[in-house]
Amino acid sequence: MASSQLSVSSCPGFSATAPINHLTGYRSLFAYNQNTDNRQLAPDNCLKRLLHKWSLFILAVLKPLGVWGVLGFAAVDAAFLGMPLDAIVTGYVWANPRQLLLYCAMAAAGSALGSIVWYVIGYKGGEVLLVRRIGEQRFNKIKASFERHEFLAIMLPSMLPPPTPFKLFVLSAGVAEMRFSHFLAAIFAGRFLRFVLLSFLVIRFGPGIVDFLGGILHHHLRTAIAVVAAASGSSSARAFPTQKVAPPVGVLTRLPGDDNQLALTIDDGASVAVVGAFADFCRDSGTRLTFFVNGANSSWSANAPALRPMVDSGQIQMGNHTWSHPDITRIGSASVADQIRRNADFLRNTYGVDGTPYFRPPYGRHTPTTDQIAADQGYTTITLWSGDIGDDVPISEAGLIAAAQKSFQPQQIVLGHANKPTITHCYTQLLDIIHSRNLQTVTLNDVFA
Ligand SMILES: [Zn+2]
Repeated sequence: MASSQLSVSSCPGFSATAPINHLTGYRSLFAYNQNTDNRQLAPDNCLKRLLHKWSLFILAVLKPLGVWGVLGFAAVDAAFLGMPLDAIVTGYVWANPRQLLLYCAMAAAGSALGSIVWYVIGYKGGEVLLVRRIGEQRFNKIKASFERHEFLAIMLPSMLPPPTPFKLFVLSAGVAEMRFSHFLAAIFAGRFLRFVLLSFLVIRFGPGIVDFLGGILHHHLRTAIAVVAAASGSSSARAFPTQKVAPPVGVLTRLPGDDNQLALTIDDGASVAVVGAFADFCRDSGTRLTFFVNGANSSWSANAPALRPMVDSGQIQMGNHTWSHPDITRIGSASVADQIRRNADFLRNTYGVDGTPYFRPPYGRHTPTTDQIAADQGYTTITLWSGDIGDDVPISEAGLIAAAQKSFQPQQIVLGHANKPTITHCYTQLLDIIHSRNLQTVTLNDVFA
């Protein structure tokens, strides 16, 4: 069994010597930011010294308590003061390997208990705090990620050692009102796995492995956090996990499968201001949707600078709705082909995409003949809808919201229009419906390969 003595008497104004016996990793953890392992704590860092003093005090109080002490350390670490938890836990394991599972379980339980503090803070009003700290857009992403994969969104960060912003994830769980039992279980599972893994490594390679891995992780933490973020879905760029299927050849009216997706599809764009408001709305809320564009409306040129980046990122998708919105069942075949081609050219020139294979015939009117004309230009999916918000005719805000209450359901393709300003006054209520029903907005490309 290894044994060491930590002396910090070189710190001015603070003289203490704490016997830490088997906690071999402890000293070098405090030398974390220094290059050499054996150097004393940097004397010029007051905050660090204060934390160090507190840690030593807590260490002295809790150490004799054995497994309960481990629980206490972990709780303190999670609740308010970062402790060298890995070194403490594996120190105990190194001294008494047969108790490995018990130590790891107690430490994991302590972490879960201590985290309750932050969960409660988040639950009781952390939303304001968190929005102020990380911005509304990022907050909405984190919240959405909890709604999709709340267990992993907590368990994965629990597995990573500091300086992972663990408390931020915990706070977010409270804000997102993650189910409390799941919250505790996720932290326990993540922490337990981490401590068991580390303990086995310590038994196999000796206590130095904690510092060694800590050093590696410190250098690669950005990568590690990015991997966790991607895996837990807190990145907007993440791929959708459900298996993508090919878009149907023929008529599409609703999304396939049994998920919680909502495909908002917004047509026409008769108003420059309304399309501009949609661009702001998508940018601010992260909402994903598909526009069915009539290129004859100047709104799509006027708002291209605002929309194009979101088209490029895939948040917004463009579909073909003909150039100038005629009833294509009442005009000649050549005119139909021209309406589709002219609009495709406009989309390619303005947005770098042509919207294939998605074509929406104006008024939803189409025949086998018009379907074939569209298919000849690559538009093989005649995209209709399964719900609408009633704004193809003048409608009140209350009427529009009532229609949304009815049609915002899982796997629906919902029709709306960028023509009248009514909808731009209802964005908040529409988002409320989407969030309260745990719906995930998607473009058609999010769903179909
Ligand atoms: Zn239309």
